[in-house]
Amino acid sequence: MIRVGDFEITRIEEMVLAEPAATFAGFDAAALSQHRHWLVPDYFDEAANAFVTSIHVWLVKTPTLTILVDTGGGNDKQRPASPRFHQRQAPFLDKLAKAGVTPESVDMVILTHLHVDHVGWNTQLVDGRWQPTFPRAAYVMSKSEVACRDPKAGAADQPPALHQPFIDSVEPILEAGLARLVDGDETLAEGIDLMPVPGHAPGQMAVRLRSRGEEAVFIADVMHQPIQVPMPEINSKYCENQDLARATRARILAYAADTGAIILPGHFGRPYGGTVERDGAGKYRFRPLATMP
Ligand SMILES: [Zn+2]
Repeated sequence: MIRVGDFEITRIEEMVLAEPAATFAGFDAAALSQHRHWLVPDYFDEAANAFVTSIHVWLVKTPTLTILVDTGGGNDKQRPASPRFHQRQAPFLDKLAKAGVTPESVDMVILTHLHVDHVGWNTQLVDGRWQPTFPRAAYVMSKSEVACRDPKAGAADQPPALHQPFIDSVEPILEAGLARLVDGDETLAEGIDLMPVPGHAPGQMAVRLRSRGEEAVFIADVMHQPIQVPMPEINSKYCENQDLARATRARILAYAADTGAIILPGHFGRPYGGTVERDGAGKYRFRPLATMP
């Protein structure tokens, strides 16, 4: 757990994956040799030629609220196109309970975007039906992203990897009346606001925490890997708008370097977050957290 002013932040791990290096266009042997000394082993597994990719949920406790940022891949989901998320049976809710959180105690779930690895625990299978996992929570999600994914709102055909997670993990939340649709720049509670960071997904939002002069930003998938701090031009193949993803990344890196804010991304390996500084030669450097959230 780390503290940012009055906020307590804990990372609840769902799984850790190996992401093939080929997922990132522009990452090659030359890039690896240049950055190997700090990427291996926490961020890059040389034997597997793969990046270490954590799938986790961020838990934020404020003096009055219990908040989750993103909800991982989920259990029992039918994901034949994404074997890593297919029909999983993992004790995620037990891990949440160990952190002192019951499903009923969650006040707010903030979904940075609606990809398969960020919406899964929105729902769970109960008596054959997808029910909201957090029955009291307001689920905050991007109005524009819902509109572009929702078949009932006239969205064009989505690829199965995006369509199915919407049907089983977002639609039941809309139908239960638990969704809070936002533009992506709102203040959600004292010291907590949203920042629009589109590109990886059309309505992607970062979540900013500010308290007592300290700041942390959940930057979602603006960056998947710390190598993107010194090499912001490389994109994951999962970024839906590649040019916009790069522009947003450049903006967030400048913001992080200017403010000294802790960045807490969706998928970095251990210690899962850090700060960004300018290296004096026009590039950025990543400084990992000293304490793990
Ligand atoms: Zn992701």
